[in-house]
Amino acid sequence: MDAADQARELKFRDPARARALAEALAREVAAAGRPVEVMHVCGTHEQAIARFGLRAAFPRDLHVIMGPGCPVCVTDTPEVDEAVALAAAGARVCTYGDMLRLPGASRSLGDVQGEGGKVEVVYSVTQAVEIARARPAEDVVFFASGFETTAVATAAAILGGVPPNFSVLSAHKYVPAAMEVVARLEDTKIEGYLAAGHAATITGWEIFVPFARATGSPVVVAGFEPLDVLAALLELVRLVREERPEVVNCYPRCVTREGNRPALEKLWKVFRVVDGDWRGIARVPSGNLELRPEWAAVDARRRFRIDTALVGGTAKNELADRCLCGLIMQARKDPSDCELFGKECRPEAPVGACMVSSEGACRIWHAYGGAPDLRGVGA
Ligand code: SF4
Repeated sequence: MDAADQARELKFRDPARARALAEALAREVAAAGRPVEVMHVCGTHEQAIARFGLRAAFPRDLHVIMGPGCPVCVTDTPEVDEAVALAAAGARVCTYGDMLRLPGASRSLGDVQGEGGKVEVVYSVTQAVEIARARPAEDVVFFASGFETTAVATAAAILGGVPPNFSVLSAHKYVPAAMEVVARLEDTKIEGYLAAGHAATITGWEIFVPFARATGSPVVVAGFEPLDVLAALLELVRLVREERPEVVNCYPRCVTREGNRPALEKLWKVFRVVDGDWRGIARVPSGNLELRPEWAAVDARRRFRIDTALVGGTAKNELADRCLCGLIMQARKDPSDCELFGKECRPEAPVGACMVSSEGACRIWHAYGGAPDLRGVGA
């Protein structure tokens, strides 16, 4: 890290400024005169909150909950089964590391790998394309997960040209659509949303305006340093208290109104939104990113007859039946409400998707000390 990086880091982690923001946040929540519940929709925000111990600085009456912000966690079981079936049928399946242990109906990609199947962990779609180039006689399928930010990279790789033996099995998801679903849950107490700064770098902040108007919930775009999170929460609670369903960009050093136009052009040239199931959430209208029909040649679903019977049945998993991931991602339960948390379910032996990924709520809570007091210990 060079001096400029260090200065930038200190600027956004300055303890005196953090204290001042925390005090202002406490005053704002006190002015509301009641508990306030807000949601962030991003594993990176949960990591920042846990890593810097920010909940200790939150006022007691501010409840900051993680929603469906982990792309691995919301990858649905049938999507994993498709990848498992392709690998079981002999294709070389490349995917990100967290996807390996994600449970399917009865097996994960890691299981298939352990049985000798051709499953490879890659760090990028580009690496998967390189593997396909190096093995022209094999079918190489990139099992693509992630939100719109990651989908841009997949789109760019396809537009850049891929070898004929390469295809994509898309499990890409579109976050704004899931926010709508969560906001409309009958018993939701969420009054405002922190939007993920990195995703908004691509989409721009204006994309949240229709959501805020339709649901009556304010949205604040937030970065990932401690001061970013505190400043954004202060703004969000103020909007909630003043009943102003507006969108405020608290991450202007990266996010613009219109977003990254060239990236968005690439995204929508390759993908379109379709209704899709999110694990543990529900069917999300316009929640999945599917390859457009003109890209059928690189779409694994159109190219292969995927027989999910090859995954080996649907053995009943008694532990998985007790997993609360879905309720956690809907903000109805906390990881510590799960009786398996830290016992039968641990990072090295995950039962549910939220413990698999480094962006999953259970995995993050486990990494940073178990069960923090969500109500904070602040003023
Ligand atoms: Fe599911 Fe494990 Fe989290 Fe419990 S601790 S909700 S079993 S992922």
